[in-house]
Amino acid sequence: MARAESVWSEELEGRREGLIALRRDFHRHPELSFQECRTAEVIADRLHRAGLEVRAGIAGTGVVGILHGDRPGRTVGWRADIDALPLTERLEAPFASSRPGVMHACGHDGHTAIAITLAEIMSARRGEVEGTAVFLFQPAEEIIGGAEPMIAAGVLDDPRVDEVYGLHLTTLTAAGHVQVRPGPSMASCDAFEVDVIGRGGHGAMPHLSNDPMTAAANIVLGLKHLVSHEVAAQETAVLTVGQIVCGTKGNIIPETATMRGTIRTFDDGVRQQLRERLAGYAGDIARAYRAEARVRFESGSTPAVVNHAAQSDLVRRCAESVVGADAVYEGRPVMASDDMSLFLRARPGCYFRVGIRPSHGRPAPHHAPEFEMNEAGLPAGLAVGLSVMRRAMEPASR
Ligand SMILES: [Zn+2]
Ligand SMILES: [Zn+2]
Repeated sequence: MARAESVWSEELEGRREGLIALRRDFHRHPELSFQECRTAEVIADRLHRAGLEVRAGIAGTGVVGILHGDRPGRTVGWRADIDALPLTERLEAPFASSRPGVMHACGHDGHTAIAITLAEIMSARRGEVEGTAVFLFQPAEEIIGGAEPMIAAGVLDDPRVDEVYGLHLTTLTAAGHVQVRPGPSMASCDAFEVDVIGRGGHGAMPHLSNDPMTAAANIVLGLKHLVSHEVAAQETAVLTVGQIVCGTKGNIIPETATMRGTIRTFDDGVRQQLRERLAGYAGDIARAYRAEARVRFESGSTPAVVNHAAQSDLVRRCAESVVGADAVYEGRPVMASDDMSLFLRARPGCYFRVGIRPSHGRPAPHHAPEFEMNEAGLPAGLAVGLSVMRRAMEPASR
């Protein structure tokens, strides 16, 4: 191996245990969206000590670390989300969550530890680093709230970021394997609420009321039709109503019914079509029952994650060289959403997945209180991330 490359692999090897210890520290101290104060302090402290330029308090609890390599090159962003979920961890481990009701059950503890360690490695080898790396520690991914204010705060503009990358750990993939997909990779998300307003009354005399519950039930059934008959068969869309809140007692016709649901798709046109038709459809059905429907889209909406072709190709080549071609695959898009999509709308880049599937048994899904990470995937994610950053930061002329 060339001397230059062995230097980087020594760095990776030497930081393996530290990477896992750091992930465990974040796992033990999880914090909810926009409350990541301790997490942000640890990030800022580590980046400071590594000699990066640190900007804290961005979009509340976001942190940015800037590293100028000694050699000329491009400016590339690496984004990591840092928040945890409102769950009580079921697994028992010495590093299990110390906070009942809060848990890193999506792997963001791993994302944060990888990004910090990546910054530390590149800083330690600053003399060999070409270009500028901008490490973006984003709060509040789980409520789709942190990316937009970070971008609005100018994190991609000063310095101007040319491309942006990041990874999400996944228990759907074998530990250390990499899934990278050009084009749509994760779905858009639109959370909606429909209030159906009727007129309440006595259950024995429905003819004197306008029953919002019956109207709501017909709206739920009918909404399936929008996906099956109005969206082109080649497109993918999900429209789920997950909650109906209605009524107090069996012999009272209530005044209102509230429905909550989510729309997921990969295409901006389909997304817009369903948003518009949901309002029209719910209104028309409600009117048939002499009720009224008011549709609202809540915060927590985000477009699909769409990876750029050239940048996805770069990630694929880097991953193949690091973990071997047998451990890299394209896979299928997932219906989950992530506000990394907004970074990828602002700049070309790629968001890829790295496996952390436990070696035994069926993995618990992300967002479950039994969620468990196979930490063997972390060094692979770090090594691929380092390779991607170095290649992406090479001067454009090369
Ligand atoms: Zn999540
Ligand atoms: Zn996540």
